[in-house]
Amino acid sequence: MEPEATHPQPAESFDTIIIGGGITGLATANALAKKGKRVHVIEKSSRLGGAVQTTNMEGFLVEAGPNSMLVKSEAVWNFIHELGLDDERVDANEISNKRYLIKKGGMVPLPMSLVGGVTTPLYNPLEKVRLLAEPFIGKSKLADESVTSFVSRRMGPAFLEYGISALVSGIFAGDPDCLSIRHAFPKVWNLEQGYGSLIGGALKLKRERKRTGKTAFKSRMISFRKGLKELVEALCREDCMTTRTGANIESVRRSDDGQWTVNVSGEALQAKQLIVTTPLHAHEELSFERPVEERLLDIPRIDHPPLSTLVLGFDREQIAHPLDGFGVLFPRMEKRFTLGCIFSSTIFPERAPEGKVALMCFIGGVQQPENGCLPTEELIKETVKDLAPLLGITGDPCFHSHSFWPLAIPQYNVGHSVFLNALEEIEFDFPGLHIRGNFRGGPGLSDCIDNALQFAEKQA
Ligand SMILES: Cc1cc2nc3c(=O)[nH]c(=O)nc-3n(C[C@H](O)[C@H](O)[C@H](O)COP(=O)(O)OP(=O)(O)OC[C@H]3O[C@@H](n4cnc5c(N)ncnc54)[C@H](O)[C@@H]3O)c2cc1C
Repeated sequence: MEPEATHPQPAESFDTIIIGGGITGLATANALAKKGKRVHVIEKSSRLGGAVQTTNMEGFLVEAGPNSMLVKSEAVWNFIHELGLDDERVDANEISNKRYLIKKGGMVPLPMSLVGGVTTPLYNPLEKVRLLAEPFIGKSKLADESVTSFVSRRMGPAFLEYGISALVSGIFAGDPDCLSIRHAFPKVWNLEQGYGSLIGGALKLKRERKRTGKTAFKSRMISFRKGLKELVEALCREDCMTTRTGANIESVRRSDDGQWTVNVSGEALQAKQLIVTTPLHAHEELSFERPVEERLLDIPRIDHPPLSTLVLGFDREQIAHPLDGFGVLFPRMEKRFTLGCIFSSTIFPERAPEGKVALMCFIGGVQQPENGCLPTEELIKETVKDLAPLLGITGDPCFHSHSFWPLAIPQYNVGHSVFLNALEEIEFDFPGLHIRGNFRGGPGLSDCIDNALQFAEKQA
């Protein structure tokens, strides 16, 4: 008997296909859909949101990944408003402007202003004079520089060790000796490049704004009543945008007419524009045809250290400390197990049930990767050992939730421009292909959204 003839199904067509349903993919899809583009998002896992993972357990609202979002631009602020999230938005408690740092075993508030810097017990008088000499230090002629080199040169080593290095650890779980000031903190780098000094540059910018009547956007830390998952849900509510989860990409091919065809779970999808927003390590799973695959695999790898997040719940009476701040950071000089601890239920009271408090702790990162990979019981034991004398904790936590991130946050190390150039070259050589994600333009949620908006803005 003759085998039955099979006719390939015509491919379903979109303007844009996006691979990866994290915040980068969803925000890009939403912004393009708002411009009337037909967009389809393909996500491998069974849920959308990527690193954003909110759950409710025993009355605690647990964020396994990002805890909050620091909105850094007017564009992102307006976008959240357009998503209809104003009534759901919760602003961080004002007290969370205060951040603690450990020095010689004690908790000291981190100075958040110039005046605070002058009066803080964190630095001795000589170290403070060194800090105030910042405007008189010439600007670097280097094309890039590590955070350690930049901060020591401009502000002195004390400010590095008991200030910036701990903040760097809080944002990137990174190593200031390796992180690039130019790529990890571009605003700081640009102040030096543009004005020759950070203090002088900040003052000049303030004067310029006063003269022109422009006001700078004041960053705001926010979340949502039911957690960051509300952002994910809102991003998906756009008419021209469709999503699929649990998708297995079998192949990705570019035809001579410039169309991209993605074969996914037995279906063929086609679009003129293909945006890959998966983590870098997932590129090899996507089965691109040659030569795109070779080029993607040739992109210089960037470090993503392992990290554990541990949410601990306690009865309020178990903790003597008022928990009056954002949290506490452990500078590397203090040689502690924990990188830092956020007072989650101080920042957002709905994170813990009545009478309880929630702390979110970070363990691992570039400088202590092995700690981040330890089993839950050991993590709890060592973390509580770090925190108990500082916060006056008695007894064991009544609740815990541990999440392990084997490849947590991309490190924007010195030399990051080699990586960025490689991405640009691929995009130039294969029109219609775009490689986006938290490894480009900043890892924060606000950065990911800002980049998505800027990208969408540039599309015809
Ligand atoms: C522990 C932790 C804490 C953080 N804390 C904060 C914070 O407090 N505030 C803040 O602003 N930022 C924080 N960040 C950073 C921020 O959460 C991330 O940078 C951001 O969410 C990354 O979004 P993304 O879409 O670029 O990548 P991801 O969220 O990684 O999304 C990529 C998506 O691609 C999917 N994918 C992978 N392979 C495939 C495939 N083969 N096919 C299809 N899809 C695939 C993944 O499943 C995932 O959904 C934190 C990050 C971590 C890990």
